[in-house]
Amino acid sequence: MTTTHLMTARPLDTGPADRAADVHCASVTKTFADGTAALHEVDLYCPPRAITVLLGPSGCGKTTLLRCIAGLETPTSGSIHLGGHDVTHADPRSRGVAMVFQNYGLYPNKTAYGNIEYPLRMAGVPKRERRERVARVSELLRIDHLLERRPAQLSGGQRQRVGIGRALVREPAVLLMDEPLSSLDAELRVSMRNEIRALQRKLGTTMVYVTHDQTEALGLADQLVVLRDGRIEQSGDPEDVYGAPATTFVAGFLGAMNLLDAQPLGMPPGTVGIRPEDLLPGEAPGALTLRGPVVDTDLTGTERIVHFRCGQQTVRMRVRASDPVPAEITTHAPTDRIHQFDLENNRIELQP
Ligand code: ATP
Repeated sequence: MTTTHLMTARPLDTGPADRAADVHCASVTKTFADGTAALHEVDLYCPPRAITVLLGPSGCGKTTLLRCIAGLETPTSGSIHLGGHDVTHADPRSRGVAMVFQNYGLYPNKTAYGNIEYPLRMAGVPKRERRERVARVSELLRIDHLLERRPAQLSGGQRQRVGIGRALVREPAVLLMDEPLSSLDAELRVSMRNEIRALQRKLGTTMVYVTHDQTEALGLADQLVVLRDGRIEQSGDPEDVYGAPATTFVAGFLGAMNLLDAQPLGMPPGTVGIRPEDLLPGEAPGALTLRGPVVDTDLTGTERIVHFRCGQQTVRMRVRASDPVPAEITTHAPTDRIHQFDLENNRIELQP
């Protein structure tokens, strides 16, 4: 590490006043030694005090980008800036970032207290201050009664709280989370997700959160970034991305939109996108009507997804679980619920 990096890097444990660093990845490319190209000229700005969610399918480069921000990987080209400082080549420990991993990464032989305290010990924080900071964080995460237990004596949710505690105790300028909830059961995931959001709001920490789960992404994000094959496919306010997907890839990934060949529907060549919940029963004047035999149904709880054949394609429609399912479906999509994409799979903005 050079002197410049030491000078520009944010020191560890700089305290709450610094918990608002923004993150800027400028044209970041990462090619691994074996030739795998994981990221291609990614430009990403994560505003301070907000949650940026990186969403995309397995292998799209989410973790690699997070690791570049953390300093666990060095970009092949491009630069990483935290709070306005170029940290591209700075030591991970000097960046003021903390990372929470999918598998918690706890030391099995240390107690919850020992695990949370560990980064402060490494940073040479005096014992009394360590004790105070661990107490503060464990109270915040409601694990103060579990501090003497080892990871094996904790539930999945409690372990994850300890993992988050270990990250938070450093009072990082940026908190990075890599699928932190994926090993928890569905119910716990939802409550932990709400807790993480509440915690972030309370502390005002800048957060970059990786997931392949669209529900989690929509529920958490202030800024949603959809990655595909190492490139940003679309980013923005989650409602805007959901409401107006820029490509068929985003439309299919977020909300499982039906993507239909436009020509059999009598429309210009390209793709027509309709969400399963935007298909309404029966016909309506001026609306696009789809009809065909039911081929399958999936009960999801209070709702049911009905699959019906429409020409060569299968269409999914969401109905109430209590509604009877006919053998043949007639349905329509209101004009303002239809998304259109050109032959390059890019969104066509329709005039209002
Ligand atoms: P997942 O959701 O499955 O974790 P991801 O979107 O986080 O996926 P990455 O882990 O960032 O994806 O991987 C991106 C690409 O880089 C993949 O093709 C992966 O196989 C490859 N990759 C990751 N780490 C390495 C490595 N150390 N050496 C070579 N290739 C790697």
